[in-house]
Amino acid sequence: MSAPAEQATDPVLSARDVRVWYGTTRGAIQAVDGVSFDLRPGETLGLVGESGCGKSTLGRGLMGLLPEGAKRDGEVLYRGRDIFAMSPRQAYALRGSDLGMIFQEPLTRLNPLMRISDHFEETIRQHEPKLPRAEVRERALDALRLMGIPPTRYRSYPHEFSGGMRQRLMIALALVLRPAFVVADEPTTALDVLVEAQIVQILNDLRRNFDTALLLITHNVGIVAEACDRVAVMYAGRIVEQGTVADVFGDPQHPYTRELLASTISLSTTGLRFIPGSPPDLVDPPPGCRFHPRCPEAMSVCSAEHPVPVDRDGGGTVECWLRGPRTLTDDERRPLAQEELSDADEA
Ligand code: SF4
Repeated sequence: MSAPAEQATDPVLSARDVRVWYGTTRGAIQAVDGVSFDLRPGETLGLVGESGCGKSTLGRGLMGLLPEGAKRDGEVLYRGRDIFAMSPRQAYALRGSDLGMIFQEPLTRLNPLMRISDHFEETIRQHEPKLPRAEVRERALDALRLMGIPPTRYRSYPHEFSGGMRQRLMIALALVLRPAFVVADEPTTALDVLVEAQIVQILNDLRRNFDTALLLITHNVGIVAEACDRVAVMYAGRIVEQGTVADVFGDPQHPYTRELLASTISLSTTGLRFIPGSPPDLVDPPPGCRFHPRCPEAMSVCSAEHPVPVDRDGGGTVECWLRGPRTLTDDERRPLAQEELSDADEA
């Protein structure tokens, strides 16, 4: 890590009103629409929500890794420096040494023609070109050891590893320079449950041992419950509820969080449940609360006005008219009729 250790209470990363949009022939896709949160050293924030809610776009945006053509606004402060205000070269220099990213599909990220040793050399030398070869090797072997990969595999090729081991390799590569902030984008999606549990354990050890701040992007609520301190629930580009895992999962206050938890399969699940409908088209999202066409508690105000974030009972924030910020009139509280929901869905 290149910066001096900060106070335990100082965020290592602060997102402030982050917006990301893409131009398409149909209009702009507002993939991330005003997201704010803080992450402190050693903290893990789980970012959950269905596919297409903007989670991965947000993760890439925080790393300064958006595709060409994407537009962005707001601030991403890494130790007080705004990543969005940096030149591509400055943002590149931070990646690896300060910011790390673990991707979903390791095989597409590892060069099949390069040995594991070459991957490590390339990563380390990008940031420390003059480091003696023996030290590069020592650091790489340390990172492999941490991931439970024997040093004898240092000269192997990516295809010689199992899926779970490849994912551990990706984690070792992302962490070899000890970044202070890491985004892990669905790191366990393609893995079986046993390997998934190992990866979760590894991520937990990392933040404990190295004070790494981790943003864990997943659609798997169970992993968040196991591995995270805090959770942010994302729907249609916005964080609709956030707080500690104990608070949010113990007493979910946003209807979408409740639906997400209810549709999670666990050992006590007796029947399959899913959230009716699908997330909206972000070129033309519904007016008011974006969840209202699917919300079992939608009221007339929900299709007319966008709710604003308010403090949750017990800490964190929630963005739902049922929770404030003002007392609703009888007309605003009127449940939305089925026809009104359908109209909104088509909007
Ligand atoms: Fe449901 Fe209305 Fe709350 Fe949106 S604002 S989640 S539609 S109750």
